[in-house]
Amino acid sequence: MKSYNKVNVIGTMRTELHDKLELTGAEISVNKLPVGEGVPFVHAHKQNEEIYFILEGTGRAEIDGENVGLQEGDWIRISPAAKRQFFASADTALVYVCIQVKANSLENYTAADAEAVITDFSGRPPEVYKLN
Ligand code: ZN
Repeated sequence: MKSYNKVNVIGTMRTELHDKLELTGAEISVNKLPVGEGVPFVHAHKQNEEIYFILEGTGRAEIDGENVGLQEGDWIRISPAAKRQFFASADTALVYVCIQVKANSLENYTAADAEAVITDFSGRPPEVYKLN
């Protein structure tokens, strides 16, 4: 079994990566809202927080009734129960990534979860060292 999955999403309006990449701890979607359009519904989540990264364009999110302006380079985290809806502005499309993860599920990250793998390319199994 292959140890990685790869997909290309260029040209798609919306792609959900959970199945395509066989993700086990997150759902990630890549989204493009056309000029002047919005997601046609308000939604909230039961237990997942969402992290949005704005790749291109400008727009806004309505979060629990508050308007939050969005532009390229912005990151925004939204708590599970918050009611949210996203809109592109009248003159640009809004392209963004949404990462959905279970709130409070992250135990270790970066160096605390990493191991250095040392191999001498001799055919012997590589040795794994904890970094912390
Ligand atoms: Zn959502």
